[in-house]
Amino acid sequence: MIANYGYKDGSGDYYISIDTDRCVSCTAGRACLQACPKQMFEIMTDDYDDEVACVKPANRRTLAYDCADCKPSGRSAQLPCVSACLPGAIAHSW
Ligand code: SF4
Ligand code: SF4
Repeated sequence: MIANYGYKDGSGDYYISIDTDRCVSCTAGRACLQACPKQMFEIMTDDYDDEVACVKPANRRTLAYDCADCKPSGRSAQLPCVSACLPGAIAHSW
């Protein structure tokens, strides 16, 4: 399943998606938790009783602002969260 966290406004779509099928068997030691300088990820138990990463509720309405330091000129190929997630479970919509 793809879990999407974020929002849409007049300037665009801002979603971080997590592929829970990849995330549940994380081979990266939950590296996203430490990699994000804003500590935006946490582990939660989903509706299927699987432990997977998610974006913290406090960050879900402010992603464009929260991620701005990692994306000084728009989309970056070297986002810390994406690079740390070796299973490739994290994607950004913008
Ligand atoms: S998002 Fe990636 S690094 Fe984080 S727990 Fe899931 S698979 Fe592991
Ligand atoms: S882009 Fe940066 S601030 Fe945004 S979730 Fe990834 S590591 Fe965290």
